[in-house]
Amino acid sequence: LVQQYEKSHPESKRAFERAEQVLPGGSTRSVLVSDPFPLVIKSAHGAQFTTVDGVKFDDFLSDFSAGIYGHSHPVIQEAVQQALSTGFSLGGITEKEAELGEILAGRFPSIEKVRFCNSGTEANTFAVATALAHTQRKKVLVFKNGYHGGTMNFSKPDNPMNIPHQFVFGTYNDIEATRAVVNNEIGAILVEPMQGAGGMIRGTREFLSYLRQAADEIGAILIFDEVVTSRLHYRGMQGELGIIPDMTTLGKYIGGGFPFGAFGGSTEIMSRFDSRDKSVTLHHSGTFNNNIFTMSAAVAASRLITESQLRRLNAMGDRLREEATEILRKAKFDEMSFTGYGSAVGIHFSGDDAEALREYFYFGLINRGISIGRRGFVSLNLAHTEESVDRLLEALKAFVDDLS
Ligand code: PMP
Repeated sequence: LVQQYEKSHPESKRAFERAEQVLPGGSTRSVLVSDPFPLVIKSAHGAQFTTVDGVKFDDFLSDFSAGIYGHSHPVIQEAVQQALSTGFSLGGITEKEAELGEILAGRFPSIEKVRFCNSGTEANTFAVATALAHTQRKKVLVFKNGYHGGTMNFSKPDNPMNIPHQFVFGTYNDIEATRAVVNNEIGAILVEPMQGAGGMIRGTREFLSYLRQAADEIGAILIFDEVVTSRLHYRGMQGELGIIPDMTTLGKYIGGGFPFGAFGGSTEIMSRFDSRDKSVTLHHSGTFNNNIFTMSAAVAASRLITESQLRRLNAMGDRLREEATEILRKAKFDEMSFTGYGSAVGIHFSGDDAEALREYFYFGLINRGISIGRRGFVSLNLAHTEESVDRLLEALKAFVDDLS
């Protein structure tokens, strides 16, 4: 399969070898690079992309969930073209910034006031710093296998790229193990309502409620990282569960496909960023925080995200998970399973040959014109149809039939 892959994508190979000369590992996004070389994209429309080799793929990665609109959505294109024609890098305030703030405060129950930045990583970094400043404490409760960006990646607790906070590690979905490490030196609790990079593991209602209660008891700020889960419900997982954190971080799709992060919370906490009041001020700056491309794209894109569209995507994801599980059950193929929630789907591999199987599945799909996240990740976008899901299911069935 890998040989077939290499033969079918000589231009990707050539382009990647060139990139390796100046970019360590061949790209500035570690997650996109793997052996023998990644596909190099030339163009993308709707639910498909075309590589520099001229080969077309059904795209089920959807930019790790950030691409919820499908590629090159005309509504977003128009908004960005408008920004191109009216001026950019303005170094000033536009009305779009407040408009986006209103949209987010209208959607997420915990957000009364919000600040923008350029990535989910930044949003989490600022949110944690805000919570520690607000509580005058030093410790941050986080969870094993949590992922909050390149500088708070707890897939390895000793990740050298992590920022040097005093982290305390709880165990996700384990109330007793977490209770054992909670103490009143903790100023911030940072949690994903569903662990995304950690394998699409939903937080249970009991666990997230416990965190809400623990934060209140010890006087810590509870932060929900909804960078991924904000796609699952119009009001986020917080709105769906009725568990309202003190602060929320956002990113990915909300920026309409442009660099984006946001952190928000109650007026009390967020008013610290009012630079006119010198007694409370936390300073938060960033040249591109309110850049007109992101603001325009995000405002336009928000029109595409309705409750019914999100429900449709979730229903497609549920069908994919259910039918995939049925295919695996019928074939008595226990080494693979589908997890996740709604439109975000995780694929897991187990057994002695788990890694080989993961690779075999990935290249099996690639050779059938289907691209997923290589670690076993699928997210659906507005350009996907029931037929797209059928194609993925057919490819899974063919893969399983081949193996048995
Ligand atoms: N939080 C979560 C839950 C994420 O999944 C990610 C990105 N995968 C981030 C934060 C970081 O966002 P960004 O890549 O925009 O820095």
